[in-house]
Amino acid sequence: MPNALQLAVEEEYNHLEQDAVIRKVEFSDWATPMVNVPMSDGSTRSCGNYAITVNPHLNVPSYRIPLPEDIFHKLRGGQKYTKLDLKNTYQQLTLDEESEVCHHKHQLAIVFGVTKFYMYLFGRTFTLHTDRKPFLKIFSPQGSMSVLAASRLQRWAILLSFFRYDIKYKSSSDIANADALSRLPLEFKHYASIESPIFHVAAQQVIQHPVKAHQIAQDTAHDKTLAKVLAFTQNGWNIRECHDPDLKPYLKQRHELSIEQGCLIWGLRVIIPPNLRKPILKELHWSHPGVARMKSMARCHVWWPKLDADLEQITRVCLQCSKTWNALPAAPLCPWTWPSGPWKSVHVDVATSEGKNYLILVNAYSKWPDLKND
Ligand SMILES: [Zn+2]
Repeated sequence: MPNALQLAVEEEYNHLEQDAVIRKVEFSDWATPMVNVPMSDGSTRSCGNYAITVNPHLNVPSYRIPLPEDIFHKLRGGQKYTKLDLKNTYQQLTLDEESEVCHHKHQLAIVFGVTKFYMYLFGRTFTLHTDRKPFLKIFSPQGSMSVLAASRLQRWAILLSFFRYDIKYKSSSDIANADALSRLPLEFKHYASIESPIFHVAAQQVIQHPVKAHQIAQDTAHDKTLAKVLAFTQNGWNIRECHDPDLKPYLKQRHELSIEQGCLIWGLRVIIPPNLRKPILKELHWSHPGVARMKSMARCHVWWPKLDADLEQITRVCLQCSKTWNALPAAPLCPWTWPSGPWKSVHVDVATSEGKNYLILVNAYSKWPDLKND
């Protein structure tokens, strides 16, 4: 709970308790995260976020929303009317996604800073200083964001709208302190870096491929198109420079591209340079699983433009593939029966990672995972 809100929230809860809207309990079968919204008069409004807790368990009868004409017809001849105050009725809205491009690392820095110091900033008025003039418009508390703005921008603007702030321009030379903090080399880089565990999964993905990461990195750097994609992903996409039609498929997914060990990654899929596509196709085709299965396997690991067409081409000329695929019966969906309590039923599996063996156990009732290594 942000420090500035603690008193106001306590007061709000006391009021709600006095009005018998809520009551104190020691224990409860149900719990839900609370969101406390500061109001202009200094009070707060407390909302429960039921979307992830209660709502999925509700039985919602669906019926047509009545038209005003229907309602007025039913109300005709009425003698007494009442006004309902719905100020404590809330809705949570999700927004649609569209794309556009900008200096996202600097924007992320603002969002990261504000989120990191949430406890100190929320509920107070503060000033954001930036050396990027476009941000004054993009993140202005008074401004409204274009509906065509990138989904990432939309989310960040919504996040910032919870805070009370002014945004001001300061030239780069005047905020050298921020530059120094972000760019001075750290002496103990090993301890300071939190990136490696985060990217561990992506790194593992690269290691397990039939072609090695360094080969992919080397060929990516030497391929005319992929070298450009690599540079754009590193330095930001300049759409005006992307006339090359070969760049088009990458341009579409530029917001989801990243680099791991010199390889281009789309989501969790490694982008394979042209001369390494053959061994990958061979690996995917190894047990003649048929085109649908090959596509779904490829979707977990690799990508390149026209990948699906390449897979279709292989199976089209392979007799065994079509036979195997047609012979497979469709397996009926058979869900596990829900256990009546914790530890009545568990799922167990083994896994190996970096030479270590792991026993994984999941309690079927609560989905609680447990891990033990040798
Ligand atoms: Zn085949």
